[in-house]
Amino acid sequence: MKHYYSLNEYYKNKYGTKVYKLSISGGMTCPNRDGTNGARGCIFCSDGGSGEFAEQFCQDIGAQLENAKKRVSAKIKDGKYIAYFQPYTNTYAPTDYLRRIFFEAIQPNYIVGLSIATRPDCLEDDKIELLKEINVIKPVSVELGLQTIHSKTAEYIRRGYPLSEYENAVKKLLEAGIEVVTHIIIGLPGETNDMILDSVKYAGRFSDGVKLQLLHVLKNTDLYEEYKKGAFETLTLEKYTDIVCRAIELLPENVVIHRITGDGDKRLLVSPLWSANKKKVLNYMNREFEIRKIKQGSKLIEKKT
Ligand code: SF4
Repeated sequence: MKHYYSLNEYYKNKYGTKVYKLSISGGMTCPNRDGTNGARGCIFCSDGGSGEFAEQFCQDIGAQLENAKKRVSAKIKDGKYIAYFQPYTNTYAPTDYLRRIFFEAIQPNYIVGLSIATRPDCLEDDKIELLKEINVIKPVSVELGLQTIHSKTAEYIRRGYPLSEYENAVKKLLEAGIEVVTHIIIGLPGETNDMILDSVKYAGRFSDGVKLQLLHVLKNTDLYEEYKKGAFETLTLEKYTDIVCRAIELLPENVVIHRITGDGDKRLLVSPLWSANKKKVLNYMNREFEIRKIKQGSKLIEKKT
């Protein structure tokens, strides 16, 4: 079990201090929801567009940032922050509108960077140009919800774009000098461990950072309907931890691991319920990482003697 490059460590190296992400809303929808690709969204996506913890949308981006900052300011003294447009698809709007909200978001002195969650099929050239322009002022990173490289699963979850679309977008972003973070969901129905690890390995080749997310079943999603029918089971903590350990082994050392689990909104969470206790989950996972490191260490000693 090797050491992994955590987001905290990365931010400390990059900004010289602890940095928090302030999750805000750009007021956009998503092509999987507005009828362009479909109206029901990805099969696992909640009504909140996978961003339940973000600030409610209001036109005043500065006010959203201030509110979000107030919520964490007790934990962080003189820290720095990243403005994080999280829910729905945050480049799914005319470029003029994006220009206004993104520039507003990087305005405050305490904001050191901009992070944008979006889809690869919503990154037209003029939007990449805009991000490139902002990147010169404050670093920009783009998060892409790839989730899987397997077309059968992508179809099942209604991702709504082919893998080639992701590759095109990543190529353009990297050429523009913009950081790419790829989301992979662990535990998607029908996927074996090998399939999951193939997706992780692939994401590691193309990305500066990877977010590993546990599949959650949330109320009011089509995934919940599938779950009720018994179409699949969610992972146990032990199985999930084992896959994450193997995923970390596969990722290049310089790839930042932004997240090793997710915490779905407790009011909506149906399964796995163990994931609701984030602190306990992270303690268990970190303990497991240490045990594996010790075991690997002793194997090396055995080899030497
Ligand atoms: S692309 Fe994102 S916001 Fe849109 S339906 Fe899928 S998960 Fe939800």
